[in-house]
Amino acid sequence: MLNFDLTEEQQMIKKMIREFADEVVAPGAVDRDRSKKFPVEVFKQLSGMGMMGLPFSEEYGGGGADTISFAIVTEELSRACASTGITYSAHISLGGAPLNLFGTEAQKHKYLTPICTGESFGAFGLTESNAGSDAGGTQTTAKEDGDDYVINGSKMFITNASYAKHLAITAITRNEGGKKEISAIIVPTDVEGFTVIDNYEKMGLNASNTTELVLDNVRVPKENLLGTQGNGFRQFLVTLDGGRIGIGAMAVGIAQAAFDRALRYSKERKQFGKVLSEFQITQFKLADMAMKIELARTMVHKAAWLKDQGRPFSREASMCKLYASEIAMEVASEAIQIHGGYGYMREYEVERYMRDAKLLEIGEGTSEVQRMVIARLIGC
Ligand SMILES: Cc1cc2nc3c(=O)[nH]c(=O)nc-3n(C[C@H](O)[C@H](O)[C@H](O)COP(=O)(O)OP(=O)(O)OC[C@H]3O[C@@H](n4cnc5c(N)ncnc54)[C@H](O)[C@@H]3O)c2cc1C
Repeated sequence: MLNFDLTEEQQMIKKMIREFADEVVAPGAVDRDRSKKFPVEVFKQLSGMGMMGLPFSEEYGGGGADTISFAIVTEELSRACASTGITYSAHISLGGAPLNLFGTEAQKHKYLTPICTGESFGAFGLTESNAGSDAGGTQTTAKEDGDDYVINGSKMFITNASYAKHLAITAITRNEGGKKEISAIIVPTDVEGFTVIDNYEKMGLNASNTTELVLDNVRVPKENLLGTQGNGFRQFLVTLDGGRIGIGAMAVGIAQAAFDRALRYSKERKQFGKVLSEFQITQFKLADMAMKIELARTMVHKAAWLKDQGRPFSREASMCKLYASEIAMEVASEAIQIHGGYGYMREYEVERYMRDAKLLEIGEGTSEVQRMVIARLIGC
């Protein structure tokens, strides 16, 4: 049975988050883009609404909802403010998900619960200066010393770490005969030797928190190993599959916001005695934008649905991330075009959508990496 309707619960979540996005998140988005101020107040309210652990079990303080609901919330928040959207998406799919997937019961109670309640933001430290697309190039090491790991190295571009009480990082736990064994380890952010540096100057997503991490002889007990030793590489691939649904949802939200503004402007702006929306070329641009957004949203929901069914979803997650992020850039660019010179001005906001959308073609696997993943999964 093929059914594209949202369930009652999904519709309820959509209505609630849509109103919240319009009334609470959107009004401060321009200011936050300029001031680069992290949306702490917005997240306090999202915690109160039970959104911070939405797709995780109620046993850990989560909402027990599904991945489609997570995608809806991420889309709606990103439509209003993409900095808020990426913070939320990374919190759930990079911070909470690996703990949920690979944590022991004790680890879930200790580390996933504060993420679900909003006491801690979720974050995930994989990328390093020499390990981006080729994440296997990790250089951070975790040496066993008695009952502890002693971790040394650094991480780049890590979302949410300034607001996280702990996060999982990847490190080499063994390196025998040039064969690296990479593991994921949970590190409390207040441990001695751990420094979070928050001073990147970004192109967009200005109110989101992107940090550098330095680990200098950081000592954590061996019980902080997440999953099994040596399995960190596979675990992060699984984690990124889910994360790509979040990036796809973000892209749909940004594209929708850009489209809404372009449609509105096209009905107001007059040239040659007509509003722009009377010109067929503008109508065709808007029709293409609407069609691509519809397709991207359907792809995101299908990948989320597959995940919720417990079926393989890597290919669909990669496809939705790739397609949605590329059309988000395209739609944002067309929205600027429809605004003409005004679109190039900050005041009209559409340029922000393009600056924010660009990251989606880069983070959690670049477009090139997505094409490599898809090519492998279709049997090339
Ligand atoms: C705002 C922001 C937030 C982020 N948040 C996080 C986070 O929370 N946690 C985290 O771990 N990381 C995070 N990242 C890092 C992000 O995932 C990486 O930037 C991304 O994976 C690309 O890695 P790189 O920047 O090293 O680029 P590189 O890997 O150096 O790529 C440079 C270019 O080369 C291309 N390329 C690389 N290899 C190939 C190949 N084999 N074939 C063809 N082309 C190739 C790439 O597609 C790209 O175009 C974040 C990044 C940003 C900018």
